[in-house]
Amino acid sequence: MSQIIKISVVAPFFNEGDGVTHFYREMCSIFASLSQYDFELVCVDDGSSDDTLSYLIELANTDNRVKVIEFSRNFGKEAALTAGIDYATGGAVIPIDSDLQDPPELIGEMIELWRSGAEVVLAKRVDRSSDTALKRMTASAFYRIHNLLSSETLIPENVGDFRLMDRVVVDALKRLPERQRFMKGLFAWVGFKTKTLEYVRSARIAGETKFSGWRLWNFALEGITSFSLLPLKVWTYFGLIGAFFAFFYALYIIIRTLIFGVDLPGYASLLVVSLFFGSLQLISLGILGEYIGRIYFESKQRPLYIVRKSHGQSQA
Ligand code: UDP
Ligand code: MG
Repeated sequence: MSQIIKISVVAPFFNEGDGVTHFYREMCSIFASLSQYDFELVCVDDGSSDDTLSYLIELANTDNRVKVIEFSRNFGKEAALTAGIDYATGGAVIPIDSDLQDPPELIGEMIELWRSGAEVVLAKRVDRSSDTALKRMTASAFYRIHNLLSSETLIPENVGDFRLMDRVVVDALKRLPERQRFMKGLFAWVGFKTKTLEYVRSARIAGETKFSGWRLWNFALEGITSFSLLPLKVWTYFGLIGAFFAFFYALYIIIRTLIFGVDLPGYASLLVVSLFFGSLQLISLGILGEYIGRIYFESKQRPLYIVRKSHGQSQA
């Protein structure tokens, strides 16, 4: 094969104006060091309200490796990644955060592993000391709970969206039609031969994180409800256990009343039991709601993102 292999790097941007130029320069130097490959840089502007887009368009106008996809509003990182992957044309696709928290230096090694047969090359964070203690704790709890509940789609711990995927993997991903996209889970679901690299997560080069605690919580719910039915099914068993105890307790009271003829005082225990089961029912209803809400959105079949315009050469 004498044809030059093309590799697509996909980067989502949401209000990253202060970092665009720096990111681009970093990428250029990586591309230059891997000159045996042809690169394209697919930048998705996820409805930024700062000057990110104008910087990106300028890049697309001066460098024909840069493609810019402009969203009509902020659709979220998952949608931005999906769009970038849809527009990427390379034989391998590498999603990377535009704040340089995913080290581009790893790209060379990823490509090497890919060339030697891996279809997916994961980048695993071994040291997250640049994240806050709370974020690290909640992240590790999330991975544990998620993998406990959805044993079929195990998400590797501390692996983000930064990875390399072969074209076959990308095409498999594109066949997943769901609207609620928890990319980490979808990446894991498609499978394929996987190798893992390790790296130390650095701090952002500019700007601040777009993920608040509340957004992360909802993100975690998204992950769990997308890949596990356990939270839905578990209520049957709680109910069965409760009914079992209730039945024997009733027998006990009947027998005791028959033998001793006493009226049992039981306000406190009644209150406790009815509060307990009342709250269990509310929780189970809430969980039903989480799933039904998702079915509702899924059934609307709305597109995942709306592109206002795409800039740069060979637009799709
Ligand atoms: N991002 C995006 N849309 C959003 C939020 C974030 O495209 O609604 C991008 C953001 O520009 C960055 C990446 O997703 O390139 C990761 O976001 P961030 O650094 O805020 O997340 P963290 O690294 O703190 O998890
Ligand atoms: Mg970041």
